[in-house]
Amino acid sequence: MSESNLIKYVQTTCPYCGVGCTLNLVVKDGKCVGVEAYKRSPINDGKLCPKGVTCWEHVHSPDRLTSPLIKKNGKFEEASWDEALDLVAKKLKETSDKYGPKGLGFQTSCRTVNEDCYIFQKFARVGFKTNNVDNCARICHGPSVAGLSLSFGSGAATNGFEDALNADFILVWGSNALEAHPLAGRRMVQAKLKGIPIYAVDPRLSTTAKIADKWIQFNPSTHIALANSMMYWIIKAGKHDKKFIEERVNGFDELWEMVQKYAEVEDITGVPTEVVKDMAYKYASAKNAVIIYCLGITELTTGTDNVRSMGNLALLTGNVGRPGVGVNPLRGQNNVQGACDMGAYPNVYSGYQKCEVADIRAKMEKAWGITGLPDWYGATLVEQIKQCGDEIKAMYILGLNPVVS
Ligand code: SF4
Repeated sequence: MSESNLIKYVQTTCPYCGVGCTLNLVVKDGKCVGVEAYKRSPINDGKLCPKGVTCWEHVHSPDRLTSPLIKKNGKFEEASWDEALDLVAKKLKETSDKYGPKGLGFQTSCRTVNEDCYIFQKFARVGFKTNNVDNCARICHGPSVAGLSLSFGSGAATNGFEDALNADFILVWGSNALEAHPLAGRRMVQAKLKGIPIYAVDPRLSTTAKIADKWIQFNPSTHIALANSMMYWIIKAGKHDKKFIEERVNGFDELWEMVQKYAEVEDITGVPTEVVKDMAYKYASAKNAVIIYCLGITELTTGTDNVRSMGNLALLTGNVGRPGVGVNPLRGQNNVQGACDMGAYPNVYSGYQKCEVADIRAKMEKAWGITGLPDWYGATLVEQIKQCGDEIKAMYILGLNPVVS
């Protein structure tokens, strides 16, 4: 058999949701012809959802660009890479020289790999001395990074999805995992078959809420009142983890003082007190309880505080730091975590090192062999779009489509 007739498997990650299923692209004669689930991945156990199964189909689509396009006289014309790169470099430099570092905006996608995100923020900072760099987690799970950092010191999930099977109680809040993150939803189905109780907190009777043991319907945007009320009843009943709090948690007295205002929240949340108490006691009494949440928590103006409420519940009950517990955000795209970790953010370098701290800037300047890194908080993705044509005169957008999404 000739070399060209051989079928090759190329291992990669599904380009869609944040579950990050591993798969093999099937390549024949240099062309992608299909996809096979990767059997040894602990993430997806050799399974893919319909999105993953069809993710190869666009690879050779005639709609894909195969060369750069430059707009001339209002019409796109094909150009060589040299011509396109020279033009971009010239225009970015001209804009930076004329308007300064705040005249440029840089946005990257959470579907790009870690290396691209790292080099992108380095390009903005080293090349143009600007912190106007952000990624599209800003409009989905940015609050997870901020909220989880404030709660746990690290802006990431505390446990893996598959760990839900080690829990004794699962609280799903603002997530329709069965439809939006099917292979994480599969873990919930497995948990249900194992007899692990699931409570789904959602204004809608979603597919996920339908398989739950209890659907807690509440008024949209009242997450914090509901979580505070749960915490009130947990503390009132003495079901908080006193030893864990004493050893590892700050601010308990302030929290107790604050949640006392939230004993009865039916007027705000629409959830009767007996239902709040039942959910609170089930969560606090379980040996191991996990919270799984999604955009129903984050895509609100109170997103960061909503996430902190999830963190507060876990810390109050000692549900952190072992299998079967924790707080698990289901990310929308496959590299939301990486784009943030790599420093594609207006105020931090990779690893969430703050740009405003002089010692950290000095360290990065030494590592990158430059001087003059900016200390200011750059424009976020949303601010950049608002500033378009005013402060911001040119933007470099990598792999996302802010006009649509
Ligand atoms: S669950 Fe998510 S990562 Fe897995 S195959 Fe489906 S879309 Fe892709």
